Amino acid sequence: MYLILFYCKALSNHGFYYIKCYYCRVQPETMSRLMEQFSFPFYKTTIAELPERIRQLMQTAQDATNEAYAPYSNFKVGAAALLANGQVKTGSNHENASYPAGICAERGLLASLNPLIKNDQITALAVTYMGDVNLSVPISPCGICRQVILEQQLAQHAPITLYMGCPDGNVVYVEDATNLLPFYFSSDNLK
Ligand SMILES: [Zn+2]
Repeated sequence: MYLILFYCKALSNHGFYYIKCYYCRVQPETMSRLMEQFSFPFYKTTIAELPERIRQLMQTAQDATNEAYAPYSNFKVGAAALLANGQVKTGSNHENASYPAGICAERGLLASLNPLIKNDQITALAVTYMGDVNLSVPISPCGICRQVILEQQLAQHAPITLYMGCPDGNVVYVEDATNLLPFYFSSDNLK
């Protein structure tokens, strides 16, 4: 490191100031930086402590795992959405021998909705699972599903509370889908 510094200093002294190694270019004293941290509220609870309507929603999501087609992973995911009009829609994951052709429960569910239609607006979305794994850890949507959930939220102009559950009853929830995807891509990037 000292040799690199010495070499660059020598170059600078001889009028080759712009020829600098990577190490020198990233020296803090030569940069103007602003560090910001992303933080968001999330809640840890149990199914038993949730309001009755949400408890039912979690149970519906759990029941939806029975509709999953997961012969390869045996990781069965169920999702249930509470719509603004009180209806509940469900989805489950469907795997495929051609793995990328499979689809997650969340996206399967959301594909059946149109966020621009008022009756399809989601107020709460519950996700849980069943499988040969630790059953006490709340599930969280994969990255692609987070993007799709966010698209739904942005299009309907109303936040979606996302409940992430597990068979043992532990729940983590966030009250806004943007919380799970900082620096997300949206239609604003296309303007
Ligand atoms: Zn997913």
